[in-house]
Amino acid sequence: MRAVIFEGEGKFRIADVPQPTLRDVQFPKKYLTPRGEREFVRFKKEAMVLLKVLMAGICGTDLHILRVPPGHDAIPGVILGHEYVGEVVKVGGHVKSVKVGDLVAVDPNIKCGLCWFCRNDMASLCPNLTTLGIFCDGGFAEYNLAPARQLFVLPEGMKLETAALFEPLSCVMHGWQKLNFKVGDSVLIYGAGPIGCLFVKVAKASGASLVIVSEPDDFRREQVRMAGADVVIDPKRENLSEVVKSVTSRGETFGVDITIDACGVPQTIVEGLELTRPGGVISTFGEQDVTRLAHQVSFTKVTQKELRIVGSYVTTRSFDQTIALLKRRELKFDQLITHKFVLSEFDRGLEVMRGGKAIKVLIHP
Ligand SMILES: [Zn+2]
Ligand SMILES: [Zn+2]
Repeated sequence: MRAVIFEGEGKFRIADVPQPTLRDVQFPKKYLTPRGEREFVRFKKEAMVLLKVLMAGICGTDLHILRVPPGHDAIPGVILGHEYVGEVVKVGGHVKSVKVGDLVAVDPNIKCGLCWFCRNDMASLCPNLTTLGIFCDGGFAEYNLAPARQLFVLPEGMKLETAALFEPLSCVMHGWQKLNFKVGDSVLIYGAGPIGCLFVKVAKASGASLVIVSEPDDFRREQVRMAGADVVIDPKRENLSEVVKSVTSRGETFGVDITIDACGVPQTIVEGLELTRPGGVISTFGEQDVTRLAHQVSFTKVTQKELRIVGSYVTTRSFDQTIALLKRRELKFDQLITHKFVLSEFDRGLEVMRGGKAIKVLIHP
């Protein structure tokens, strides 16, 4: 079968590899042990499911993985692709949750279920984590072997394009839950890529009074307007601070209730400290490296404004809720799919994403 294989240091190749078969597997864990050793997560073949991949999304993380120097770890030799949906073609002897013919979405982040974090409702912090499509084989391929417990059956009639947003939306919903959002809150979002657009849809569906988005690319500004943003700003030509001041002014003070970094540009955290109201919340979802600007990040401001800065990584258990939200047709999630390519055109998909002229790019085998 054809597959996109990570070759290390910014390289990948599309190659013919053997189709996976139901078998016992051992997946390398994401984090090394304190002694620098790589441990494995093991599954018996009875617990595994063979999928025919139907649709797989390219994630910003894939771009990070393929950057030089890389912005995200991955193990050379693995098949990339961690946002995918597929059809069940074979199930292990102990699998009861899915059956042959089911269409399923995949939670690619495999947690142990046994550690302190997993048992205390913080599974995204599981030290035994591994990820399909990053540390073991994923969905940029014709077939994939996944543990049954990572699979969620799709409702009848759901478009594959919509279902392909399952993984990024589940991460956005996890990040959203950390914000203690209250109906009527105002939200500032940096970046109108797929994550920024998904945050806009979740904010509007949750009852935000005002959603402001800052995005330098024309194409993405147009898309995020369609996604429901109320105020869309080009930071190259407009003064974001002035706009935020004018639309959130409340006598002596101003500022949004919630600021979300959905682009990973370090400047956003510096600016967010100014534009978030006293007592507000800033989400660092975009994984920015602020080291370069560390001298500009004022912790005095954090203290005196009583700001809350919250991290958010992958997701814990918002899967069934994610599918429930994807089912809401009026939210028009499939609008966010701007490009589709076949597997052999994977590099074209990367190209449009790197150029910023895309929201979600899907690959189908
Ligand atoms: Zn991703
Ligand atoms: Zn765990």
